[in-house]
Parts: sequence; C-alpha cells; structure tokens
Amino acid sequence: MTKPTFSIIAPIYNELDNIPELYPRLRDVMDQTGEPWELILVDDGSSDGSTEIIRKLADNDDRVRPVIFARNFGHQIAVTAGIDYSRGDAVVIIDADLQDPPEVILDLIEKWREGFEVVYAVREEREGETWFKRTTASLFYRLIFKITDVNIPLDTGDFRLMDKKVVAVMRQMREKHRFLRGMSAWVGFKQVGVKYKRKPRYAGETKYPLNKMIKLALNAITSFSYFPLQLATYIGFIAAGLSVLAIPIVAILRLTTGTVLLGQATTLIIVLFLGGVQLIALGIIGEYIGRIYDEAKGRPLYIVAEAPEKPSDIEE
Ligand code: UDP
Ligand code: MG
Repeated sequence: MTKPTFSIIAPIYNELDNIPELYPRLRDVMDQTGEPWELILVDDGSSDGSTEIIRKLADNDDRVRPVIFARNFGHQIAVTAGIDYSRGDAVVIIDADLQDPPEVILDLIEKWREGFEVVYAVREEREGETWFKRTTASLFYRLIFKITDVNIPLDTGDFRLMDKKVVAVMRQMREKHRFLRGMSAWVGFKQVGVKYKRKPRYAGETKYPLNKMIKLALNAITSFSYFPLQLATYIGFIAAGLSVLAIPIVAILRLTTGTVLLGQATTLIIVLFLGGVQLIALGIIGEYIGRIYDEAKGRPLYIVAEAPEKPSDIEE
C-alpha cells in the first residue's frame, strides 16, 4: 500500500449510528484531494457494536485502519493513539459524531498547502448544543487563555490539521494527563485558524458529561499553568496583610466604643474561612501531586487489543 499523504483520525466511543454516515462523507471529501489517504478509527472501548462496524469497514477498504483499545481510555488518549499510528504527511483529527463537518478538511488542507504546519478549526457558531454547554465551554476557553503561559486559541477544539513535523514532536510528549489542543499550540511552528460552523450531533448523545468536562478543564489548567499553586501565596499575603491592618483598628475601636467584634460568631467565621482556604490550597497541591504520581508510575498511555503496525515499529 502506498504511503498516505493524509491521515484522518476519528476517536470512537459508542458511535454506532454515526460511523455508517461518517465513513462515506469522509471518503467523498478525501477522494476529492486526489491524494492517497488513510482513516484511523480508534475504538475507545465501545460496547454498543461500534467495534464490529469498524472491523467491517476495514475489511472492505484497506485505507481504514482500526486501532481497538482494551478498554475506555478517554477521548484525548484515543486521539493520541491515532497520532501514534498515523503515517501521513498531514494528520487531521476529527470527531466521529459529525459535529465537525468533514468538508471543512478541504479548507484545512488548503492552508497546509500554503505552508502552515498547524491549521486549527475555530468554532464560529455552535448549533444544537445546550445553553449550558455553550456557556461553560466559552468560559473555559477564556479562563485557559488567561491563566496559561501558552497561547491556546479561543473556541477551538481538537478538530485540526497537523503537519508531520508537529506530529513527530507530539509523539514525543508522553504526558499522562493530556490536553492536546494546548500541546499542539505549545509546539510552535506556523499556526493558523480556519472558521467553521459546528453542527449538532448526527446521532447519539454527547460522551462528554459535566464530570468529564471538568476533568478535561483541570488537565488543561494543570498542564499549562502553575497559577493555582501560586494562588495560596497570594491569598496568604492578603490575609496576613488584613490582619496586620485589623489589629490597631480593632484595638482603637475597642478602647473608644467598647463593643465591636465581640463574640464567638466572628471567631467561628474566620476560623472556618481560613480553614476552608487552607483545605482548598491542599486540594490544589493534591491535584498536582496526583499528576506527578501518575507520571512516576510510567504506565503505558493506552493498551490496544487489536491494531496495525505502528509506523515507529516499522521505520526505526
Ligand atoms: N470519545 C472517545 N472517548 C471518550 C469520549 C468521547 O473516543 O471517552 C469520542 C467520541 O466518540 C467523539 C469525540 O470523542 O467522536 C467527541 O466526543 P463528544 O462528541 O461526545 O463530545 P462533545 O462534542 O459533546 O464535546
Ligand atoms: Mg461531539
């Protein structure tokens, strides 16, 4: 088989009704490029029969390469596996639920041909998502942008094209808690955004409930910022400063008016407040320590049950 120019990566977690629509749409778009391509379908521990459909597609079209996980490892890890297995000169990451229209890939490729090494798709509009999802997502992107040291583009998901130079660097970044859109911004090179309209899901439900979104947000923040750790220092200085100011004020008020800031309630509130702040600070440190622990264990990022040969197994 000829080496593909383009690798398309689609992570799949129980997308039974989406795959039969995704495959022909992608095929039609990719055939328009006139270049050889491959489609890497990463099955992230699906239990709804998606795995069988993926196998069947691969049997009928040898451009489809299935990477089947031993269990669910999560979206970011599934995409990472896709990156590891890709062989193309340009690699495109796309959701399997058709929220990212495959036709936009042609726009991404056009920019790549102009010489850009990362072309990310910016969500100009989001259709068919709840008010809650849109608002939290928007807040999230802005918070990340503010507190991280890397300029992670706003309103941008994982839908993007990366040149093989970027892919080579990404493959070396083996951190366990991954925020791929941050990592691909961190790499550098020439980057550009292309606007698109994010569509509603073709079928099925979101696989990103609130708890997974919070997890992703925590990974994004801890991977790219120390700000939460420094927060304890800031609050400490503010609290200490306040108490230094408060001592003479309370003393004077007490001498002149008599009955200010008396009683247990004041003490109780302050003790609870400071105790709370300290526990939160400990929790934040815990988040970072947990991540250090996961790194130290050095476990593999994912376990495949079935997969083709990795390019790194063949070339190096
Ligand atoms: N996904 C995955 N593993 C997971 C959760 C999601 O591979 O544990 C895939 C999912 O099948 C889809 C993509 O990641 O192709 C994006 O997920 P989803 O559409 O549920 O997220 P949303 O668009 O709602 O943020
Ligand atoms: Mg989706």
